[in-house]
Amino acid sequence: MAQSLYPLDTVNYSKANAKTHAMSEVPELAKYLEGGRKIYSLDLLSGWSCPFANECLSKAVTVDYSGKRKVVDGPNTKFRCFSASQEAQYTNVYNSRSHNLRQLSEHPRNDWHMSDLLRDSMPANLGICRIHVAGDFFNESYFKAWMFIAETHPDRLFYAYTKSLKYWINNRDDVPDNLVMTASYGGRDDHLIATEGLRSAVVVFSEEQAERLGAEIDHDDSHAARPTLRDQSFALLLHGTQPKGTEAATALKALKGKGSYSR
Ligand code: SF4
Repeated sequence: MAQSLYPLDTVNYSKANAKTHAMSEVPELAKYLEGGRKIYSLDLLSGWSCPFANECLSKAVTVDYSGKRKVVDGPNTKFRCFSASQEAQYTNVYNSRSHNLRQLSEHPRNDWHMSDLLRDSMPANLGICRIHVAGDFFNESYFKAWMFIAETHPDRLFYAYTKSLKYWINNRDDVPDNLVMTASYGGRDDHLIATEGLRSAVVVFSEEQAERLGAEIDHDDSHAARPTLRDQSFALLLHGTQPKGTEAATALKALKGKGSYSR
């Protein structure tokens, strides 16, 4: 691979082994995992990297000099971001995502700087990459960096949920086939999902709600990742730790761990 012209550090890709089995069972996805290739994610600090988050908005915030953290919900939080809860609880998770966000956003980087960083840090055996189990596209240059990564790695598959809908819409005609996008409800621009006809995932509080909406529940991310389903919307069951006393907290109790919504 060509040497970058820019000084680079690294970002951390995380292994997503829990999903490998389910995905390798799907013929359309199995080819990306041939030869022992793996599924990874590239994660950023939740909330802090999500300019359009609204009903999900939560952040891990440091509360004292020891580095102790707690989750702070946004003003309109209806279902708490699961990733933010993880970041409050686990220091290594917080540090890794915080590092990634800093590396990608704090220096005056353009999309070329960012794609160099993403490419040079990418594990050689990456077959499928979920862009952001945690975090979102924090600006349009960063979205374009991922478009370039997908375009230049056609034998690998990339998929992402986003509430940063404008960045996607602005570049819609140029999104490569191996970058599969899903609009996620609960953001500040939800109205664009209908007006722009974006493929979407809605978080549901029960299996019955999904049925009423006529939306298939994606339990293992395979619907989100499959290129042939790129225009078909689907549902995700509520998951995670929800703020006490909310409708989401009550729904979560009823689901008893069946949830699949993992952000
Ligand atoms: S759910 Fe997604 S968009 Fe919302 S705060 Fe968490 S990572 Fe950001």
